[in-house]
Amino acid sequence: MDLWFTEKHAPGVKLSIRVDRQLYSRQSEFQRIDVFESEEFGRFLTLDGYMMLTERDEFIYHEMIVHVPMAVHPKVRRVLVIGGGDGGAVRELIRYPEIERIDLVEIDEQVVTVCREHLPFTACGFDDPRVKLYFQDGLKFVRRQSEEYDLILVDSTDPFGPGEGLFTREFYGNCYKALKEDGIMVNQHESPFYAVDALAMQRAHKRIVKSFPISRVYQAHIPTYPSGHWLFGFASKEYHPLKDMDTKRWKERGIPTRYYNTKLHRGAFALPNYVEELLKNVEHID
Ligand code: SAM
Repeated sequence: MDLWFTEKHAPGVKLSIRVDRQLYSRQSEFQRIDVFESEEFGRFLTLDGYMMLTERDEFIYHEMIVHVPMAVHPKVRRVLVIGGGDGGAVRELIRYPEIERIDLVEIDEQVVTVCREHLPFTACGFDDPRVKLYFQDGLKFVRRQSEEYDLILVDSTDPFGPGEGLFTREFYGNCYKALKEDGIMVNQHESPFYAVDALAMQRAHKRIVKSFPISRVYQAHIPTYPSGHWLFGFASKEYHPLKDMDTKRWKERGIPTRYYNTKLHRGAFALPNYVEELLKNVEHID
């Protein structure tokens, strides 16, 4: 008998992955956590039935959320990751020796415990001495910070359940306050393709545009996310994601990547017309 994981991507669309075995399934205080193993995508983590990452394609998401801002900001010392309990963003960040401290604020400690046990390919950087874990609501954590961070990565779930607060105007305003005067915030920005995701993306974009002087959007191809077309938000106080990208400096670091490169960095900000239109439509709305 075949066992399949199925996620509804739109009212008339589902993605199914054949599962070899289920490695973990439990309800935490915040959400249901499942880990599966499959032939095509390797191990994968779902929260409340929504795909978070797979062994096969997680490198795309994690390289794009980390290396894009790192190729722009000239001196990142302190980083805040909100969410990201799988550890993939931390794994990419610890490749940079100039980073002195990484604070990871994850609401659900159980996610980190489960990932340490079942997803060692992402949860491999938590023991780096520069990493400090906080198990709290990211929304409350940023309220207390002021001019602390060079970079904030919002590596959250979708805008419902525990992740809802991480898409609010208040949260983005507090991230602005928590950043130093030349800080950058990058967030997972949902997808432009299916109507429900596009609406969430527009709502987030509208709020970020109101909170930061520079706000651009870039894209990546992530096969297991709805439609495979995913966006990231690049919000910044001073640095422009293209004009301030330093190709030479990034290449000199010699960081091995499978998706990110500096040519792709430039291309990722060139968006399809329909996406540009969705973004423009909300930029001037109060
Ligand atoms: N890469 C994934 C994606 O794009 O869907 C997200 C990865 S990560 C597993 C998302 C994490 O955000 C989850 O572990 C979840 O517990 C955490 N999270 C959700 N709401 C949060 C909040 N308010 N504060 C801190 N962490 C939160």
